[in-house]
Amino acid sequence: MTESYTIQPAASHFIGGEYVEDTTGEPIDVVYPATGKPIARVHAATPAIIEKALASAAEAQAAWAAMTGTERGRVLRRAADIMRERNRPLSVLETWDTGKPLSETLVADATSAADALEYFGGIAGSLTGEHIPLAGGDFVYTRREALGVCVGIGAWNYPTQIAAWKGAPALACGNTMVFKPSETTPLCALKVAEILHEAGAPAGVYNVIQGMGLVGRSLVDDPRVAKVSLTGSVPTGRKVYQAAAAGLKHVTMELGGKSPMLVFDDADLDSAISGAVLGNFYSSGQVCSNGTRVFVQRGIREAFVERMIERLKTGVKIGDPQDETVNFGPISNARQLDIIERYIRKGVEEGATLAYGGKRIGNDGFYLEPAIFTDVTDDMTIAREEIFGPVLSVLDFDTEEEALRRANATEFGLAAGVFTKDLERAHRVAAGFEAGTCYINTYNLAPVEAPFGGSKLSGVGRENSKAAISHYSEIKSVYVAMNPCEAPF
Ligand code: NAD
Repeated sequence: MTESYTIQPAASHFIGGEYVEDTTGEPIDVVYPATGKPIARVHAATPAIIEKALASAAEAQAAWAAMTGTERGRVLRRAADIMRERNRPLSVLETWDTGKPLSETLVADATSAADALEYFGGIAGSLTGEHIPLAGGDFVYTRREALGVCVGIGAWNYPTQIAAWKGAPALACGNTMVFKPSETTPLCALKVAEILHEAGAPAGVYNVIQGMGLVGRSLVDDPRVAKVSLTGSVPTGRKVYQAAAAGLKHVTMELGGKSPMLVFDDADLDSAISGAVLGNFYSSGQVCSNGTRVFVQRGIREAFVERMIERLKTGVKIGDPQDETVNFGPISNARQLDIIERYIRKGVEEGATLAYGGKRIGNDGFYLEPAIFTDVTDDMTIAREEIFGPVLSVLDFDTEEEALRRANATEFGLAAGVFTKDLERAHRVAAGFEAGTCYINTYNLAPVEAPFGGSKLSGVGRENSKAAISHYSEIKSVYVAMNPCEAPF
């Protein structure tokens, strides 16, 4: 039966250094978003599979942590090299899994995963504690220690990247991981596990199991798990955070957003439009940090909208995402397409003007034109809620103070951007943004060297950079007395 699928993985799960199957688990069909047809079938983890993965990660952890950081780092860097060598087949797989165009996946997914593996591989050997001198020659030294077994839970928009962004710092610090990809895009994380194993990660160090929220929940609840890192929506974040809190577990939460982008009238207009394209239409708009509320200073609003529409008319090429000339693919799944279409209808109902696009294309696959709304006000649903699709809202503003206040008037705080040639204003506005990741005259870049994450409801903790190390390790203080121990009696 499985032979009839185009992209069937060797098995559903990767545990203890090998592919493992248990077909008694609930079947999950992997659908190619360009056709709406199944291309693979995996099975959700049964309790036996969940147990096997956790036991395997728990068993492997002490020996992995006992290796030197340099040795662990070497494994990660080797994995990075393999990922780069196989960038094309991995990108093709990412495109099957998500529907994102190959022109994007070739430069943004396995490459980003490789960057994370290389970066954390590079610093693994330098993770040390410190020496703290005290009175009378006493001192404290600190040890930076692994947390233990970490659980990673992924969203469906960047399956390879998410698997590596969580795995690389976790493994660098001496933890082991059980990763559960989104049930919508289960294929890519298996390759990350396979490559890490091939690069020398001992059996059990990085495991992948499939399943829906319930499988994730079982992992979070397990007392052997010390840390949970989730990339997903705010409602899921609340549930996972709450479940993790019962065991006082460490958490990283990379959640949703409704990020603002401020375009002042002195901005380089073409550059600002490029920023808005990157922040609304890359990956068909399915990016958490998207700047979907584009505040444009009144004087340049019309020119901005006109040129933005022109850019979409001339620049967007919609089609089969496996065709390398295509730059705008389908929405990743039918459910998400339905959600986006509902938001578009709501925008029209509430009085916004659908100035461009927003229509379904064809009956096969989950294609939707990129959409631009104008005449949007702050209270409209499309300006308040995360849509997670290619829907840009243009809002007008007059003053810097007003724009910043309205930009911050949201429960989310993932990202924010400002386009202006005025240096002082750029830094003032960046300092005023209530968001974890801010951009001046660009948008949506996420290099591994820089911390990435959200404030307010958009998240807890940071991924990437040295900041991630503190989220995957803890400090032990060792007090050393150089004098006899004294007591009051
Ligand atoms: P989702 O919240 O529906 O699911 C995320 C993951 O959580 C999935 O693997 C799902 O199976 C799992 N899950 C669901 N319920 C669970 C539970 N009770 N316990 C444990 N795990 C559970 O999100 P999605 O639809 O897959 O992804 C889209 C969302 O992710 C958007 O809100 C987007 O903004 C966000 N996102 C955030 C970032 C970031 O870095 N901040 C990156 C990508 C996506």
